Amino acid sequence: MAGMPSGRVHNLINIAAYSVLAAGVLYATRTNLLVVTQVQTLNFTLGFMAGTFLLSPDLDLSEGRVDSKRHWGLLGFLWVPYGMIFSHRGLSHTWILGPLTRIAYLAVVTALIVGLLRTFAPDVQLPRIPHPISVKFLLPLILGYYLSQWLHLIADGVRPDHGVRRTSKKVRDFARARR
Ligand SMILES: [Zn+2]
Repeated sequence: MAGMPSGRVHNLINIAAYSVLAAGVLYATRTNLLVVTQVQTLNFTLGFMAGTFLLSPDLDLSEGRVDSKRHWGLLGFLWVPYGMIFSHRGLSHTWILGPLTRIAYLAVVTALIVGLLRTFAPDVQLPRIPHPISVKFLLPLILGYYLSQWLHLIADGVRPDHGVRRTSKKVRDFARARR
């Protein structure tokens, strides 16, 4: 589609929004309107930056050249199947499920790699996930990630009911075809 923001423009928008938010939060904590811990701030930032630079909705184009695929470096090829599975600006660009598709995809790929390593290189020490992970720890991470995704969708002009409209259109078309 013409006039779609490029990866670079998306990055700039997200960083600008992050800066404004950071300034606001800093002000709010200085004036005791808000209490945020360092871990919460760090996790929010990690989620936001990962969402902006590594897990952008435009990975649905990663069978070609995409900014966020490039940021994965040598591992960029891991996203090619994602680009082949998801059509551009389809499910990948919905507000709730879209960001989850990339997390789920990453989880599946990670599980596959861990499985391969366990089988063929059992001596390799894999990093352990500390558990239980508390909601307090996860929430800022999820918030940061989702905010980065929503800023991308807003810049793309994708409405929050994008996925819902797609589904209801399919249902309508189906009902019409049956008549
Ligand atoms: Zn996009």
